[in-house]
Amino acid sequence: MNRPSAQTEPQAPQPDEYRRLVAIQSEVANLEHAAELLVWDQRTYMPSGGAESRGEQQATLATLSHAKSTSSEVGELLARLADYEASLPFDSDEASLIRVSRRQYEKATRIPTELVAEHSRAATAGYAAWQRARQARDFALFRPELERLVPIMQQITDAFGYDQSPLDPLIDMSEPGVTAAECENLFTGLREGLVPLVAAIAAASPGDEDRLIRQHYPADAQLAMGKEAVAAVGFDAERTGRVDLTIHPFTITLGAGDVRITTRVREDDFSDCLYSLLHEAGHGVYEQGLPARLYGTPLLAGASSGFHESQSRLWENVVGRSLEFWTYFMPTAQRYFPEQLARADARDMYRAVNRVTPSLIRTEADEVTYNLHVMLRFELETSLLEGTLAVKDLRDAWNDRMRSYLGITPPSDLEGVLQDVHWSRGPGGGFQGYTMGNVIALQLFEAAERACPGLSDDFANGQFGRLFDWMRVNVHAHGAKYTPGELLHRLCGTGLDAAPYLRYLTDKYTRLYGL
Ligand code: ZN
Repeated sequence: MNRPSAQTEPQAPQPDEYRRLVAIQSEVANLEHAAELLVWDQRTYMPSGGAESRGEQQATLATLSHAKSTSSEVGELLARLADYEASLPFDSDEASLIRVSRRQYEKATRIPTELVAEHSRAATAGYAAWQRARQARDFALFRPELERLVPIMQQITDAFGYDQSPLDPLIDMSEPGVTAAECENLFTGLREGLVPLVAAIAAASPGDEDRLIRQHYPADAQLAMGKEAVAAVGFDAERTGRVDLTIHPFTITLGAGDVRITTRVREDDFSDCLYSLLHEAGHGVYEQGLPARLYGTPLLAGASSGFHESQSRLWENVVGRSLEFWTYFMPTAQRYFPEQLARADARDMYRAVNRVTPSLIRTEADEVTYNLHVMLRFELETSLLEGTLAVKDLRDAWNDRMRSYLGITPPSDLEGVLQDVHWSRGPGGGFQGYTMGNVIALQLFEAAERACPGLSDDFANGQFGRLFDWMRVNVHAHGAKYTPGELLHRLCGTGLDAAPYLRYLTDKYTRLYGL
């Protein structure tokens, strides 16, 4: 990008309109962080009896912050700030704040309030029906609600407006500037590389090398070990963060200097707690690395969902599932579990945590098959929104694709079309962000390796600082100033590119399975 940099040019004093905009945004941020605290509590310590009134509290806060952020005053301030913005360097805090605020304001005000309310009601009913359907393992119980949600989502995409795909405006909400066509290109490239790799690994018939991690591992020791791992990679769980237990692990930011990650523990599985923690710590260090001066503004966020996921996948997989990581970490693991790991070495653990096998559940899938799960969902929700697939045919379409991509058929809808919560709010679930995260992680890792030769060798000595610092300076420090495309071009010189990720998978698994 050949734009002048923020540091080199003197800037005009901030006009009153700018200060007023920032004051409103700061109130919105306070309301939103208060709402996040209610969410964090709900998913960690709240007794189940609190659910109903908690829902009311959250709805009140959401209404207040939505009204503030979409008020006509904000629209007028943004219009009056156009000249000021044009006078500033593109990547100055001020120009970026105005640009990002305008983008969000225009999106948020394009959907009629009644349609937002209608979607909210349908999504609440959708969630309840999805839970009932899961209990009965029967998609038919969810189908009527999804049939109600599809046309609502079509109305929403129409209200946003789009040229090519109805998914475009929905993707743009979490990945500014990214189109469905770009995602399709990415998936096509991945499919061509992954399907033969999955087949070659299957032919090499992976054994039961994961039995090492399927012994009994007491919960307290798993949690203590996991906390050591996240501290080693740079998550601050003392002064600016916390680690707590939950059912579905997540990361949440409650304010400047308060970033909380969560995990869960399964005593019959060594890997769930550790890798959930490394994953969430990746999100957590991104949040902890956002510049405090941007607190209270829309710039205090990651570049996109996909960029956020790139950081979690980086620490979970590229680092945490590497042989170098286990060379360093195996003695720590053996200190916590001397009996279970007595006869194992780093290479045994490396093989155990990287076992590839086609599986039914996306969130439990290995690195190689994971993106085929995402691709399937992306294709199906595109067809639903385009009207080329009827909801009544969704289950069969799901099962057909599972057979063609992974060679397996779900025994029931619970392990099939009902497994993700996303569609309880209608199609357009943001699945592409998961795959973009995997892809971006390797684009960034290759860029970091070019800047820091021998980077992976650091891991074997428990040194993660060079990688951490590169991400902090080049990714975290920008907050949401750049779109994902802008940031990729800045750091890697290209847009989304599956090649580094395919290279990484092919190298790693060719060696692992002697292909
Ligand atoms: Zn994540």
